[in-house]
Amino acid sequence: KAKAQGKNCYELYSSQLTKEAVQSFQLEQDLRIAIHARQLLLHFQPQFSLCSGELCGLEVLVRWQHPEKGMMPPGEFIALAEETNLIIPLGWQVIELACEQILIWQEQGYMVPPVAINISPKQLLEADFIEHINSILDRFGIARSQIELEITESLIMQDPDYAIEQLNLLRHAGYRLAIDDFGIGYSSLNRLKQLPLDRLKIDYSFTRDIGTNPRDEAIIITVIALGKSLNIEVLAEGVETEAQQAFLKAHGCDSVQGYLLGRPVPEQELRILKVA
Ligand code: C2E
Ligand code: MG
Ligand code: MG
Ligand code: MG
Repeated sequence: KAKAQGKNCYELYSSQLTKEAVQSFQLEQDLRIAIHARQLLLHFQPQFSLCSGELCGLEVLVRWQHPEKGMMPPGEFIALAEETNLIIPLGWQVIELACEQILIWQEQGYMVPPVAINISPKQLLEADFIEHINSILDRFGIARSQIELEITESLIMQDPDYAIEQLNLLRHAGYRLAIDDFGIGYSSLNRLKQLPLDRLKIDYSFTRDIGTNPRDEAIIITVIALGKSLNIEVLAEGVETEAQQAFLKAHGCDSVQGYLLGRPVPEQELRILKVA
């Protein structure tokens, strides 16, 4: 009897595994098609200076308009894209779409603040990354200082020396560089000191606990001080309440991004750009 049960368990387990594998294989095929069929689109989330209250940036967040499943957030496909290397063509498409949109805004006479694009470590470690991104910007006539590349600490962990070299080349080429989700990774302070950064983005998980967790507050205060001493701007992401914003302002944080100030929206709903 035990043996029969054991067999059933095994079958249940294996058929679930198969089901998951089939689903993820299906999603991979769908994503492959989506990249070619241009089902990817961009949302933009505003960033504001706490000092002046002015718009100081826009973050590009990719969305997938899936034919059956509807609008899919990146949490549902970026990890798969990374596992399957589809993140490479996907990442290029995001950069192209962003440049296309910046050019449209510029031609309409708007002042466009720096536009931040999330770059996966895999993409940045590609040998021809710099040549490729330069060629896209040149094609659209976009200045490099218009683009901020958001990278995560995991990049620096994978191959620190190569990563630092790539980042230095990008900085010299004129790109702005930001560390995303700062605080949840493991990059040592010593490495941080070596990186040519314009900005640190404090992860949402710290911002969320302002007012409730003194430890998170202490970490935020420390990161702001770190930014000041290294001459790197500090932005807090995931700001949802006035109280969080007031805390960040009181402690000298440079800028904020979050639902309180604006959700990620498609370009036609972004009514915040000023005429140049
Ligand atoms: P991220 O770069 O840290 O982006 C911030 C995420 O927080 C976004 O989720 C944004 O919608 C969300 N967010 C913004 N304000 C608030 C807030 O006040 N409260 C809460 N709860 N959330 C807020 P989203 O759009 O789902 O993106 C998730 C992640 O997917 C991004 O995290 C980024 O790591 C990745 N991602 C998005 N677009 C791209 C892309 O084009 N390429 C790559 N490689 N990754 C991307
Ligand atoms: Mg980001
Ligand atoms: Mg982030
Ligand atoms: Mg985050």
